[in-house]
Amino acid sequence: MDVRDIGARYRKERHHAEDARRKYPLHAIVVPVQFPFLISLAMSEIQQDAEGRAILRQSSVPLGEGLFPRPVDSWNMRDEFLSLKQTDDELRRFLDKYGWWDPTRPSIPVEELWVFRETLTRVLCWPEKTRGKQLSQTGFHGLPGLFATRLQATFEYSDGGSPKFVVITSGCADAMIATLQCDLARGKEFRKCARVGCDVIFSITNKHDKQYHDRDCQHAALVQRRREEQRKKKSEIRAARKRSK
Ligand SMILES: [Zn+2]
Repeated sequence: MDVRDIGARYRKERHHAEDARRKYPLHAIVVPVQFPFLISLAMSEIQQDAEGRAILRQSSVPLGEGLFPRPVDSWNMRDEFLSLKQTDDELRRFLDKYGWWDPTRPSIPVEELWVFRETLTRVLCWPEKTRGKQLSQTGFHGLPGLFATRLQATFEYSDGGSPKFVVITSGCADAMIATLQCDLARGKEFRKCARVGCDVIFSITNKHDKQYHDRDCQHAALVQRRREEQRKKKSEIRAARKRSK
């Protein structure tokens, strides 16, 4: 077959597909979506592998010690995860409290979790549009973003007669990504505290909203600024004296 024929066939087929899409457009319906955020407890160990890398190994807890998934407050979990000290002990304490990081992967390099956190911190503070693209499966000319994930959704119908979709997240990583999706859908914006050395990220209602996450940080930043101003003034006075001598 001639190469030109392949090109012509490709164009023809794409044309057919576009026609069909126009004939049967996408259906958008409004149905409530629920995120139960259920995570099973897990036993977590951090060990070195042959190359000296720290590896997180997780396994199911024995029957009778919380085998079934429990509901977690994923926003609290996210805040806790963001403020962890970067040590194996802190990470293990966090996982002992919440459970599986990703039930499909029983062993994960620890480094990956800290990179996830770093990315999460950055993505949270990005503008809505950029955040949306990073969460999307097709945000970059059909390619997935950093936090693109496939969550499983089931259709539920209760006796009360209300259809809804229930989105299943089964590990801490998925649950935290789902909080980003929910925040985006609700139009939430975030900002990192402006005080040097404070890493707290807080939600804002508009661009001119506060710069510091709490009064303590605001006060500390004010004191710092005054001190710097005084220092500057003093050195100016000293310089003026030197000149007049
Ligand atoms: Zn702060």
